[in-house]
Amino acid sequence: MSEIKDRYDHVIIGGGIAADAAARAIHQRAPEASIAIISADPHQPVYRPALSKDLWSGDDPDPDSQALHTAEETGAELFTGTMVTDLLPASHTVVTARGQRVHYGTALLATGASPRHLPGVKDPRVAYLRTVGDYRHLRDLATDGARVVVVGGGYIGTEVAAALTRTGAQVTLAHSGQRLLACLFPESLTAHVEQVFTARGITLRPGFRLASIDTGHELVLHGEDGSTLTADAVVLGLSASLNTALAAPAHLTREGDAVVVDSQLRTSAADVYAAGDIIWFEDPLLGRRRVEHVDHAQTSGDLAGRNMAGAGEDYTATPLFFSDLFDDGYEAVGELDTRHETHEVWNQDRTAAVIHYLKDGAVRGVLLWNTWDSVPAARQLIADSAGGALSTEEITARIQPG
Ligand SMILES: Cc1cc2nc3c(=O)[nH]c(=O)nc-3n(C[C@H](O)[C@H](O)[C@H](O)COP(=O)(O)OP(=O)(O)OC[C@H]3O[C@@H](n4cnc5c(N)ncnc54)[C@H](O)[C@@H]3O)c2cc1C
Repeated sequence: MSEIKDRYDHVIIGGGIAADAAARAIHQRAPEASIAIISADPHQPVYRPALSKDLWSGDDPDPDSQALHTAEETGAELFTGTMVTDLLPASHTVVTARGQRVHYGTALLATGASPRHLPGVKDPRVAYLRTVGDYRHLRDLATDGARVVVVGGGYIGTEVAAALTRTGAQVTLAHSGQRLLACLFPESLTAHVEQVFTARGITLRPGFRLASIDTGHELVLHGEDGSTLTADAVVLGLSASLNTALAAPAHLTREGDAVVVDSQLRTSAADVYAAGDIIWFEDPLLGRRRVEHVDHAQTSGDLAGRNMAGAGEDYTATPLFFSDLFDDGYEAVGELDTRHETHEVWNQDRTAAVIHYLKDGAVRGVLLWNTWDSVPAARQLIADSAGGALSTEEITARIQPG
C-alpha cells in the first residue's frame, strides 16, 4: 500500500460495493482523475452476497475469488484497514485514524452497515457475517458436527443457516417470530421454506427472543421466556446498524441514522455525495426510502461516481433484491411487507409464484419466487398500478410465475 497523499480529486470513504461502483464510474468518465478509496476493511472490496451463498455451495470456498479488483481496474489508490474519523466539508478534508489529513475535490460517503451486536457479549464463538474476516471465522467455527445456533429469522439468518448445513454442522435457527420470514412472505411461502429447512436438517426454534448468552465451557443462550439453547458456536443475524458516525459532526442532513441525499445523490454538504445502504433517497416509484441491497449499492454507487465526475444525472432506479434458499431463489422489487395486502399467483405444480403486495389498491412490491427475467415487468406493474389504477384481475394477469 502506497502512502496516502494529501489531496485527491475524489475521495471515497468505504471499501464496499458502492465504493467499487463509484470508482469505476469516475474512472470511466474522468480517466485522469485521482481517486483514493479509504476503507476500514482490511481487505479489498468483495462481492458481499457471496459470503452467504456461492462460497458455501460452490466449488471454491476462498473469499479471494470474490474480490472486485477495484484498484487494479480503476487506477484508484486503495487504503485498507484505514478508518476515516472526520469528514470536514468546510475545508474539503477527511481525517484518518492515523491523523492523516486528505483534501478532496469531491467525497463519497459509502460506509454501509455493520451487524448489530449483543451488548456485553464478546466471545470468539459468537460470530456475525458481514466481512471476509467474519466469513473466515465462521468457516473455522462451523466444523462437522459442531452445534451452531443461528439467531435471526430474516434474510441473513436464513441464508447463513442454509449455508452452514454444507459444512456438516448441526444447525438450529432460532427466531423471535412464529413463522420464518413472516415479515416478508405470506403463509404459503413461509410454510414451504420451513418444510425445506427442516428436511435439510435445520432445527427451527420459533418464538425465541434472545436475552443473553452465557459464555462458559459451552454457550448457553437464554430466551426472554426463560428457555435455553446450548451451542458450540452462535451466529447473530440481528439486523444491521448504519455506519454513519461521520455524518452528524459533518452536519449532513439525516433521517434517523441514514444520510439524506437529493436526486443526484448529493448530501446537504457541498461536494459530498453518499451511496449504498446508508442513504435516504427518492425512489421514483415508491417515494423516499432506504434499501440495504446489493443492486442499490451498485446503482447508487455508479451514479454517485458519475456525478462526482460531473455528469449531473438523477437517480431513477427502483432497486431489485434477491436471495437463494437451497434450491429456491427469488428476485423482488419494492416493499415486501406482509402488513400489506398480498395476492398470490402460483404455477400449476406450485414451484413458482408471483406475490403482489398492495397498499390502498396500488402494488408496492412484487416477489418473483423461482420466477426469472420479470424484474422490469414488476417495476412497470408498480408504476401502472399507482393510485389503484388497475383491477385485481389486471394485476394478477401481468406476470406469469415460472
Ligand atoms: C452476507 C451478506 C449477504 C448478502 N446477500 C445479499 C443478497 O443476496 N442480495 C442483496 O441484494 N443484498 C445482499 N446483501 C446486502 C448487500 O451486500 C449490501 O446491501 C451492500 O454490500 C451494501 O454496500 P455498501 O457499499 O453500501 O456497504 P458495505 O458493502 O457495507 O461497505 C461499507 C464499507 O465502508 C467501510 N467503512 C465503514 N465505516 C468507515 C469509516 N469510518 N472509514 C472508512 N471505511 C469505513 C467498511 O469497512 C466497508 O468497507 C448481503 C449482505 C451480506 C453481509
